[in-house]
Amino acid sequence: MPRLPDLSPLRPPAPPPVTRFAPSPTGHLHLGHVVNAIYVWGIARAAGGRVQVRIEDHDRIRCRPAYEAGILEDLAWLGLEGGPVTRQSDAPEAYTEALARLRGGAQVYTCTCSRREIGAGPYPGRCRDRGLTEADSLALRVRLPDTTEVFEDLALGPQTQRPAAQGGDLLIRDRDGHWTYQFAVTVDDLRHGVTLVIRGDDLLDSTGRQIALARLLGRLDPPRFLHHPLIVDEGGRKLSKSAGDTGIRELRAAGRTAADVLGMAAAAVGLVPAATRLSADALATLFGAPS
Ligand code: GLU
Repeated sequence: MPRLPDLSPLRPPAPPPVTRFAPSPTGHLHLGHVVNAIYVWGIARAAGGRVQVRIEDHDRIRCRPAYEAGILEDLAWLGLEGGPVTRQSDAPEAYTEALARLRGGAQVYTCTCSRREIGAGPYPGRCRDRGLTEADSLALRVRLPDTTEVFEDLALGPQTQRPAAQGGDLLIRDRDGHWTYQFAVTVDDLRHGVTLVIRGDDLLDSTGRQIALARLLGRLDPPRFLHHPLIVDEGGRKLSKSAGDTGIRELRAAGRTAADVLGMAAAAVGLVPAATRLSADALATLFGAPS
């Protein structure tokens, strides 16, 4: 069984947490998303908080409206809804405003380095002091101060990260004019008042960067974080979106009920024994709420 998260910091007198479910509409939902949704809705309900559904469509090339519609339909079928949906593409001004704010307190600069030039390590800051003119077709980075970010993960315990050493100065807009994942997510968590980020532990490495970036944007009280286990295959690899047998559409078409699918996902990460059916109304009990 995975270590159960310690939800005591979320209980009163702490204000009710605001968390989010943030799928990218680059494919349909699969069991890996359902694992995340179980943690998000289960913990939000156990702690008396709420869920903001956010469609992460900052990558305009890979996202498709049909996937968004399919994701929302599958969530409703699972019994998981969270009030009005927000999407990144609805608020382009939020990112340009945040960029302006960032320039007020940090060094934002044009970068012409290709992936190949940068290589695998942290960005070495080659363009930092070149004073290159900005253009829509050129990438933008922000200089990250060399801070040590310490946070208490509600599932994994104390964490220490050094974002400047991990990745170097953060890319905030790529040369296609797209806001990057790190920038868009940090701006969104701030503008939506998200106080609790619940996501898979493949994103643990991003957290120090997002705390550092949020500080540059003026957020001194970062959200709390909880990184949960992912479904892995027998070789220890993360479940891939292309894995047809774990798609929610396919499972529905094969006659599985929502309670079957929630049970399969929860069992795959050890939250319940195999072959347990789980109703959406019972998710909070997995995280300590009375049944
Ligand atoms: N949109 C991201 C994904 O689908 C999740 C981002 C996050 O939770 O920070 O993996």
